[in-house]
Amino acid sequence: MGLRFDQLSRESRVEISRSALIHNLRTIRAIVGEKVDISAVVKACAYGHGYGQVVEILKPEGIRFFGVHSIDEAAALVQGDSSLPILILGYVPFEHLEYAVERDWRLTVFNMETVGKLAEITRRLNRNAYVHLKLETGTNRQGIRQSDLQGFISVLEKSRNVIIEGVSMHFANIEDTTDHSFAKMQLDCFANMLNIFENAGITIPIRHTASSAASLLFKSTHFDMIRFGISLYGLWPSKETYLSYLLSNPDNSLLRPVLSWKSIVSQIKDVPAGEYIGYGCTYRTTTDSRIAVIPVGYFDGYDRKLSNLAHVLIRGKRAPVRGRVCMDIFMVDVTHIPDAILEDEVVMIGEQGHEKISADQLADWVGTINYEIVSRINPLLPRVIVE
Ligand SMILES: *Cc1c(COP(=O)(O)O)cnc(C)c1O
Repeated sequence: MGLRFDQLSRESRVEISRSALIHNLRTIRAIVGEKVDISAVVKACAYGHGYGQVVEILKPEGIRFFGVHSIDEAAALVQGDSSLPILILGYVPFEHLEYAVERDWRLTVFNMETVGKLAEITRRLNRNAYVHLKLETGTNRQGIRQSDLQGFISVLEKSRNVIIEGVSMHFANIEDTTDHSFAKMQLDCFANMLNIFENAGITIPIRHTASSAASLLFKSTHFDMIRFGISLYGLWPSKETYLSYLLSNPDNSLLRPVLSWKSIVSQIKDVPAGEYIGYGCTYRTTTDSRIAVIPVGYFDGYDRKLSNLAHVLIRGKRAPVRGRVCMDIFMVDVTHIPDAILEDEVVMIGEQGHEKISADQLADWVGTINYEIVSRINPLLPRVIVE
């Protein structure tokens, strides 16, 4: 009684390092320079780091926009704080446009039908809507094709209260390769489309193209603002991006991981040689063993593919996962850690003693990318800010 839930819950919790987050922000600010604005991409529960925690740390830092995917995410992020500048990067259904316009949330627009709805809403409310037109330059995800751009411009010129605040694009192939010719082609395409605005006499205040990889690698992608996501959280977008960066920069200590994920040992037991562990009997002890039970599972985002594969840290040593990861529980071998006891700290992601397990390491084990590892950590788990 009297304790807050997040103080109670050591069972599985995510720690967010304030100093690491601030360090990464200042690092990118030094790279892009003072003239380029930074929008912090905080979609997907701030890549699993927690909306409230990340906003609390970044709000005083002069972020141009907080970038979210959807109107639901925007609502979850602001929690009634109407002063937070929001840029919605994904699609907003017609029925929610008015809600966004009333709050001055910036909309990414790539459908003529949306422009029509916004024209009607802004006329009725006698209020401006600020849009960022997303241009198609080769990703073929969201975007206005060059052949349709003139049509958009003509309609927007008649819709006085729909203000083109920004124009953007998104790179298709910048993280997955060290060959950046496709990105250069997209950039040329973007430049051609910017000329169409210029020829129509339209000045665009905020041109933006760069996510983390482009921001870290190419000044020519920075324009007026960057949309910085994964590397804000101290993670490299890919090995290729890291390599490309190292080729022209000797400093490899640029980013500091922000997130650690910890739990506690919930039971320790002796298991004789020759017994099975967990569902499916996929692991059989070869010697008399000590097994620790960890109250974390795939529901929490600890992927089932980590079964019989991953390690956690206990007392500064690596303990291998034995058997299948269950929905809420998995088991590890601590035979070689005789001093391990009930309620010892367990690190799934982060450092302990001289050992470290990174989100990249988990991603390699699972066969995915660090983005998926951190963004799928169960949003119900407490996020705690540490210095
Ligand atoms: C997610 C996203 C970003 C951020 O990408 P990172 O690689 O995480 O920096 C930028 N722009 C758009 C449109 C996005 O959806």
